[in-house]
Amino acid sequence: MLSVEQALHNLQQTVPGKPGTETVDLEHAHRRVLAEAPVAITDIPPADNSAMDGFAVAYGDLKPGMPVTLPVSARQPAGQAPMPLQPGTAVRIFTGAELPPGADTVIIQEDCRYDTKQVCINVAPEAGANVRRQGEDMRKGQVLLEPGRRLQAADIALLAAGGIGRVTVYRRLTAALLITGDELVQPGEPLPAGRIYDSNTPMLRALLENMGFETAPYHVPDTAEDTIAILRQSATADVIISTGGVSVGEEDHVGNALATLGRTAFWKIAMKPGKPFLFGEVNSTPLFGLPGNPVSALVTFCIFARPFLSAMQGGEFVKPRHWPVKAGFNMTRTSPRQQFLRATLVQEDDHGELTAVPLGRQGSAALDSLSQADALVVIPPEKVISETDPVEVILLAELLSL
Ligand code: AMP
Ligand code: MG
Repeated sequence: MLSVEQALHNLQQTVPGKPGTETVDLEHAHRRVLAEAPVAITDIPPADNSAMDGFAVAYGDLKPGMPVTLPVSARQPAGQAPMPLQPGTAVRIFTGAELPPGADTVIIQEDCRYDTKQVCINVAPEAGANVRRQGEDMRKGQVLLEPGRRLQAADIALLAAGGIGRVTVYRRLTAALLITGDELVQPGEPLPAGRIYDSNTPMLRALLENMGFETAPYHVPDTAEDTIAILRQSATADVIISTGGVSVGEEDHVGNALATLGRTAFWKIAMKPGKPFLFGEVNSTPLFGLPGNPVSALVTFCIFARPFLSAMQGGEFVKPRHWPVKAGFNMTRTSPRQQFLRATLVQEDDHGELTAVPLGRQGSAALDSLSQADALVVIPPEKVISETDPVEVILLAELLSL
């Protein structure tokens, strides 16, 4: 059995070259991977503007000693090009409005007494107060984001602010989903005796679509012929992801079908859950053979498939980050396999350390504890844990958000 680290290392060596590119509107760019660096077409902000509601003045017009009274010569709301400031006057100004040429300082309205004709400034401002300077966030011509970046909401806002309406991203990839198991019934249908509902298809579609993949689900009957036929047919996708049928039972046909049509790179990992994980290729299309149990399928998808798929899309091969917390539990029975325990993270008091509390039900089919968990505690092989030890966790929010 390969260790988790060895399997990740092998996978990283196998990532295919980057895909082709296309240009899409910013509104369709969420979760896509940038192929070219967008460059700001304007300074951000494009001009000096007011950070507050108040009065714009030339600092030099404020004589020493407060209060100072100035006539109000104009009104400057956001969205209108300003007229130059008349020397010795103040302009009524609102948040986001461009500063009149000649003004350099804004006094917040709370520090003034005013009507439409004049303003009495009670508190001396600092020179340049409450002004957002042209280009202070970003300069025209500056690279906004690097290629390989998966665009999230804040990135899209940054690009929009820089005037970018279209971006060049890598082509959308397709994943064939091969869901094996004669026992499976789709949720919403009646459940005959001997059957269970298919949780892997909706789970994997959610994971893959969140990464910007298109998915093509196939339900594969538990026969050697059907498995081979559907595997051959699905090899036109960019990647194949199967679930179930990778153990050693007579009804487990994925391994044999792969041996017939392609090549097995490795099978079985020293981990729990997820031991039967299989990786190989059919006509140079990578195949991830995930175990059938939904928790094992999710953990192996997130640990192994996700970094690989991300790199295939033109992004980084990002291994899940490990964070140190306090164990908060004892584990005296060791395992030769690396374990991933579903746990909640609690802080015992306001200043207390973050502590991992394993959930009760750790079975490979127990989806309730997976859904409740904040983190997976990573227990290295043969490791004994006592309550005050540090342990490493992978945050599920991070795993599930890519
Ligand atoms: P297998 O590896 O095919 O023997 O599957 C292992 C376990 O996972 C069995 O108990 C299956 O019934 C269960 N299983 C397989 N596929 C799914 C699925 N799509 N949804 C829920 N459970 C599944
Ligand atoms: Mg099966």
